Amino acid sequence: MESFTRELTREEQEQMIDKIATEVLKRRLETVAIMFLESIKPMTYIGSQLAIVFVGPFLGVFGDFGINYIKFFENRQNVEKLLQKIEEQTEMRDEDEKKAKEDGKAISKTYNLRLTLLPGFLLRQEVTKSGESTGMIGIAGKESAGGGFIAISFEKTESSPSGLASAVSDQLRKEETQQALTLSTDTLLREIEKKEDMKIRGHKTSMIAYEWLDPTGQKGRVECYGFWCNKAQRLLFLGMRTRPLKGDKTEKDHIKDLRAILGSLKCH
Ligand SMILES: [Zn+2]
Repeated sequence: MESFTRELTREEQEQMIDKIATEVLKRRLETVAIMFLESIKPMTYIGSQLAIVFVGPFLGVFGDFGINYIKFFENRQNVEKLLQKIEEQTEMRDEDEKKAKEDGKAISKTYNLRLTLLPGFLLRQEVTKSGESTGMIGIAGKESAGGGFIAISFEKTESSPSGLASAVSDQLRKEETQQALTLSTDTLLREIEKKEDMKIRGHKTSMIAYEWLDPTGQKGRVECYGFWCNKAQRLLFLGMRTRPLKGDKTEKDHIKDLRAILGSLKCH
C-alpha cells in the first residue's frame, strides 16, 4: 500500500516514462496512446480518481508496473512528458525504418543480393566495400535497436570449396571480417557449436558458433555461416556478433534480430 500514498521519486517517474513509451512503441500503439493521453490530460486537473478509472484498464496492456501508475498519472507533467517521449520515439523509429529500407535498397543495387535490415540497423560505410568479384557488407545495430554487428562477405568461385566449415573459420580470421564484427585481436573466440553440410534453400551451408570474451570480462556470441550459391557461383560468409550478454530475457530477442537479418539474405 506504500506506493498509494508515497510520491514517486523523480528517477522513478523517468523510469516509468521510459518503460511505458518503450512498451507502447513495441506494440505499435503510439497513435492510440497519444489520443488517449491527450484525452486524459484535462482530467488530471479535475481529479485523479476519475483518471484512474480510465488509466487502469489501459495500462493492463503494458504489463505489470505495480500500483505506482496511479501516482504517476496524477501528475500532469508526467502525462505531458510521456506524450513527448512517445512522439519523439515514434519519430526516431520512423526515421530508422526509412533508413533501414534505403540501406537495404543500396545493398541490393551494389551487391546483387537482397537483404532486409531491421529498423535501427545501419550500413557501416567504413567497413563496407565492393569489388569485382568480392565484397564486404558491414552492419551495426544502434543501441536503441539492441546493438550488435553483422558482416556479410562474398567471393566469386567456380566451385564449392571442399571444406565449407574451414572456409568459414578462415574468413572469420581475416582482418576485414574482424573489423566488420569489431572483434579486436585480444578478444578470445571459443568454438561452442559446429554444424556441417546442411542445406538451406538448396544451398550447401556450414555453421560455427563461438563465445567471444574480451579482456574486460565481457562475453557474447558470434555466429558464422558459410553459404555456397551454385546459381550465382558465389561463396558467401554471414557473420554476426552479439552485444555483451548478461543472461537477461531481452537477449533472446537480440539474437533473434541478428539472425533475422542474416536469414533475410537472398543471394540469387
Ligand atoms: Zn543463392
